[in-house]
Amino acid sequence: MKSCLVVDDSKVIRKVARHILEALRFEVREAGDGREALASCIATPPDAILLDWNMPVMSGMDFLRALKDAGLPQRPKVVFCTTEGDMAHIRAAIEAGADEYVMKPFDRETLESKFQIIGLA
Ligand SMILES: [Mg+2]
Repeated sequence: MKSCLVVDDSKVIRKVARHILEALRFEVREAGDGREALASCIATPPDAILLDWNMPVMSGMDFLRALKDAGLPQRPKVVFCTTEGDMAHIRAAIEAGADEYVMKPFDRETLESKFQIIGLA
């Protein structure tokens, strides 16, 4: 079973994402900010990460940089999640190591197509 770490400071978003990803047969773990997510990745690297941009403690962007520095043997695939339609944000995220991005609010079809693009659905 593939694993996905859902990283978002919104409990509601995490719950919605968990439902969708479990229906796509992912084993789902959750983290409420980048720092929690980093600890989780170092302990047990997931296959994929669904990552929020705006979070307290450590943002999605800072998490991406820290993940790169952590030098995991196999880097998880990252789908970056944002409400900003701003292309500059998206470009910055891809440059920092994100594989794909998705706009909030997302539905099952959108998430599934993004996970297909990164080869995990
Ligand atoms: Mg947020």
